[in-house]
Amino acid sequence: MPPRFSPRWPFLLAFLLVLGPSLAGCATTGVNAGDFNLVSLDEEWQLGRQLEADVNRQVRLVNDAALERYVEQMGQQIVAQTELRQLPWRFHVVQDDAINAFNIPGGVVYVNTGLIARAGSASELAGVLAHEISHGIARHGTERLTTQYGISIVAGLVLGQDPGLVEQIAAQIVATGAIARYSRGAEREADDLGVRYMAGAGWDPEGMARMFQRLMAEGGGGGGIPFFSTHPTTEERIANVRAAARSVNRSGLRTDDAGFANARSRARRY
Ligand code: ZN
Repeated sequence: MPPRFSPRWPFLLAFLLVLGPSLAGCATTGVNAGDFNLVSLDEEWQLGRQLEADVNRQVRLVNDAALERYVEQMGQQIVAQTELRQLPWRFHVVQDDAINAFNIPGGVVYVNTGLIARAGSASELAGVLAHEISHGIARHGTERLTTQYGISIVAGLVLGQDPGLVEQIAAQIVATGAIARYSRGAEREADDLGVRYMAGAGWDPEGMARMFQRLMAEGGGGGGIPFFSTHPTTEERIANVRAAARSVNRSGLRTDDAGFANARSRARRY
């Protein structure tokens, strides 16, 4: 064994594992031909398992099967409209009155009870879930991790070589309420995809615009609401969402359902 060469092997292996599948074209979602991501979907989902375990240890999840089931079913119906429907997605409800929802890599979506409690109808909640799912479909989280840490560190994370850093990233997500503060372009992409997916799932996509408008009014221009500090929102953005929503055929789409009022009153208990 030549010990002086051995430190290189993990890096080379990591590099090949990450870059190999990417070069073979496995790393894009197919949503936009121009999207390119150095982390393969399999790797992202592996990393997601690790991050999810750490995030779940650091937040307080509700212990309410009916509320969790309602959010899970709504989320899975939207996921079924997406290009990544074949992968396992998971939804969690966090016991927290702050108005927030976030996606982490690997198809995991969190929504706070505070956001559910303030939604005016099921389609408003569906709008937020569709938006978060769309950040996952567009793979904004792994894009940001790769930009921030570099591909060799992210490769090591995927391989489980740096549980300390995974835990640190999870702590940052919990502290800031998101994996990143997204660009306006990323928000626009998540809004546009979200409108399409929620309409596909049978929800009136104007619910997304109504929810953003409601939160904007409540936050006095967006200040103090975690969802808006990580998902920059302006009147222009809301107008864009409304225009996108009105461009789809909305006949037969629903704004509410029988289970929403019960789910919301459960969320308001926290
Ligand atoms: Zn967003």
